[in-house]
Amino acid sequence: MAKRDYYEVLGVDRKASADDIKRKYRQLAIKYHPDKNPGDKEAEAKFKECAEAYEVLSDDNKRQRYDQFGHDGLRGAGVHDYSHMNVQDIGDIFGDIFGDIFGGGFGGRRSARRGGAPRPSRGYDLETTVQLTLEEVSSGCEKTIEFTRQDTCGECTGTGVAKGKKPSTCSTCGGQGQVQRAGLGGFFQMVSTCPQCQGTGQVITDPCKKCRGKGQVPKKRTLSVKVPAGVHEGQGIRVSGEGEPGKLGGPRGDLYCYVRIKAHPFMMRDGSNLVVTVPLSFTQMALGAMIDVPTLENTRQLKIPAGSQHGAVMRVKGQGLPDLRSGRKGDLMVQLVVEIPKKLSSDQEDLLRQYAKTEEVDVNSESKSFFEKIKNHFNNNK
Ligand SMILES: [Zn+2]
Ligand SMILES: [Zn+2]
Repeated sequence: MAKRDYYEVLGVDRKASADDIKRKYRQLAIKYHPDKNPGDKEAEAKFKECAEAYEVLSDDNKRQRYDQFGHDGLRGAGVHDYSHMNVQDIGDIFGDIFGDIFGGGFGGRRSARRGGAPRPSRGYDLETTVQLTLEEVSSGCEKTIEFTRQDTCGECTGTGVAKGKKPSTCSTCGGQGQVQRAGLGGFFQMVSTCPQCQGTGQVITDPCKKCRGKGQVPKKRTLSVKVPAGVHEGQGIRVSGEGEPGKLGGPRGDLYCYVRIKAHPFMMRDGSNLVVTVPLSFTQMALGAMIDVPTLENTRQLKIPAGSQHGAVMRVKGQGLPDLRSGRKGDLMVQLVVEIPKKLSSDQEDLLRQYAKTEEVDVNSESKSFFEKIKNHFNNNK
């Protein structure tokens, strides 16, 4: 589940200005919006991918981290997890952008669209990554993760109002939270949530300096996450209630920790099997040998039968990784490869020449010069 480059997703240059990024995102969001592509899962995935790219590239801090360290640089940066999010929520996050193109009907604020008083809603999900070694995948582990999420502002206790000040009555709705608008042709009246105060009847005229009226500030959080043995690359571990805070007292969203597995110096994973390549000499393969093969924790003896072939794979039962569900261990697959010596001692060379005679195959003679070899080559091909 490799993530695409965010600049590529939005089709912008790495030096693109904030305005360019915003313009491009709007274009793509309209193109892929599920309302325009009903039932098209691919369009929905693209819509979400664009939202994530925009979230990162429209935020100076996140963009800088991404430019410097790529996707890894965003670990714990408080990026939302769009894969689990519904389209309405994405519209809510970027409401400012959609608001002026779609009005209330297209990804605008939920409460405004449905009319009536704003309701408590669940907070957004966040995503981060957790990096594991193959050893940790094998045993399961507990990892400490650090990430940033929104928290109630301590300065204004979440009200968004500056200390000692009070919110004032909304002038648009006169504190009612609702406005009446003429419907089609002016024949009937439509009641909808006040766009100025989002139905609360109050507006903040003196916003809190610390949170700029949002009532929330980003805060670092450290958590311990239990990772079960046998997890796979790209799998998400859900930590419930650790996402963004909900609105109007709604519950927090969840945090998804996506698994990234570090490359092992010589082991590869194949499902629940592990694969290791072991170099052996021609004589070990031909005559058989007892060798030490590496396992994840240690080494283990393996009998190589006489006459083993280059590329053959031998199975060491139960030395692989546990299956995530059943816990049953996979095997260690040992691939045998012949290593040819780059240099021979004169003794070794003599012995090998004797051996070659028994094989009745042609080998280069000892002191033939390069030019002689070339001459022979053309003579033989006449
Ligand atoms: Zn505040
Ligand atoms: Zn109002």
